[in-house]
Amino acid sequence: MLSNIRNFAIIAHVDHGKSTLADRLLEITGTIKGSHDEQMLDRNPISRERGITIKLAPVRMEYKNSEYILNLIDTPGHVDFTYEVDRTLSCVEGVILLVDATQGIQAQTVSNAYKAIEKNLIIIPVVNKIDLPSAEVEKTKKSISDFLGIPKKEIMEISAKTGKGVEKVIEAIITKIPSPNSKSEARNSRQILNSNFGISALIFDSYYDSHKGVIAFVRVFSGSIKKSQKLKVGSQGFEFTVNEVGTFHPELITKRSLDDGEIGYAVTNLKDIHKVRVGDSLLDIKSEKPLPGYKKVSPMVFASVFTVDPNDYLNLKKALEKLYLNDSSLEFSPIYSKALGAGFRVGFLGLLHAEVVRERLEREYDLDLVLTPPQVEYEVRDGEYHEPIAKILILTPEEYMSDIMNLCMNHRGKFITMDNISQVSLSYEMPLSELISDFFSQLKSISAGFASLDWEFLRFDNVDADKLEVLLNEEPVEEFSNDVIKQFNRQ
Ligand code: GDP
Ligand code: MG
Repeated sequence: MLSNIRNFAIIAHVDHGKSTLADRLLEITGTIKGSHDEQMLDRNPISRERGITIKLAPVRMEYKNSEYILNLIDTPGHVDFTYEVDRTLSCVEGVILLVDATQGIQAQTVSNAYKAIEKNLIIIPVVNKIDLPSAEVEKTKKSISDFLGIPKKEIMEISAKTGKGVEKVIEAIITKIPSPNSKSEARNSRQILNSNFGISALIFDSYYDSHKGVIAFVRVFSGSIKKSQKLKVGSQGFEFTVNEVGTFHPELITKRSLDDGEIGYAVTNLKDIHKVRVGDSLLDIKSEKPLPGYKKVSPMVFASVFTVDPNDYLNLKKALEKLYLNDSSLEFSPIYSKALGAGFRVGFLGLLHAEVVRERLEREYDLDLVLTPPQVEYEVRDGEYHEPIAKILILTPEEYMSDIMNLCMNHRGKFITMDNISQVSLSYEMPLSELISDFFSQLKSISAGFASLDWEFLRFDNVDADKLEVLLNEEPVEEFSNDVIKQFNRQ
């Protein structure tokens, strides 16, 4: 029965309490019993192994003696994964927008809320951390009310830590978020329904299991998926036979079928996670049209990675191959440098992604690494340089606004818009090379830590640049050379 299903996500700025709220939901619904670690879903073995995106595992909860099925899908928590948030939100009918009452609205609150609004999702605004003495509950509610254009009384107040108010949030999920078969759902996914009457399911995550192969996490939009069916991956047509389907409790539990409107997993026998990427779809073999909107995510910043001890080269190779199995956005290829020896050129989605990968390589694989500073890659066409441009959003208290505007100007930022949502919201286009310099730490330091930032890739733009080569014994060393921008006068 579809009418008892609610599919939802929790969106928030980092540290506003998503994982803590998820813990309370799991307890109240009896999905987990007895004592457990904090931020339980973060520590789910799969999520831990899967690592890179560092997010909650999806979970199916039953409420009121199984009268309702509540499917929570997490959105990736950090700014390098904008596209994945987008596709995750395509799998649900509503979101909880969680705002920390001690911080107020921050950059990712705004950008995630816009994404939910774009997708016509029901938004349940919730103010969190009301137990803290420094909580400014009324002020936070006022700014959410101004931002979303809704009455203050519709904004819920909770402490995810103590559990106060959380039961009411569950009631709101049931009464406000439509079930998958309702009219608004049909409207939201009209394209999907029209284009396909067989099986179609959107992939919102995937991970590699050494025994079972790639396991795709999906939202079914039509038809039902069963064991032994032959299906294909939409964008490229890779065919496979379904080995198993099931749902998240949060551990994976086998089911007979995964039906229209449901969220669960399908075990493929595919061995390469790069064939089963987020945003792609699972379809009938016969079906001709993939679900709309799939886009391959490409790395945006690149670094050369070497081991301090040359004897560790093969260990680095093995470690990268292992990470690659579970990170569909990681790319790498072998390089050789006269100065640094054998290593790899590695592509990342952004600086945070690069940091996470580096940390995992060093910590989990016990490697000592040398990384060249991450750089963007310029496209050279007909001798002309083109550089990646990002669209950035900054939220800041008003007093830091003019300093921040200067900082953006000094980083070749092109002003787009300014808004006032309880704080000043500034939108700029900025070359990605500037964004990955020390822009973020400068932003934090001139705003006493208050300003927050979100970004997404926009396009490549023509730029006046050239290669600066560094010679060692009169020979250029690729790892030390750098693309530099001509003629820019910083103030
Ligand atoms: P996430 O990054 O959005 O998943 O945030 P977490 O759930 O990891 O929470 C970030 C920090 O805030 C943790 O130290 C939590 O213990 C704390 N926290 C979350 N909710 C509350 C709350 O309602 N009250 C208090 N006092 N602390 C909270
Ligand atoms: Mg968390």
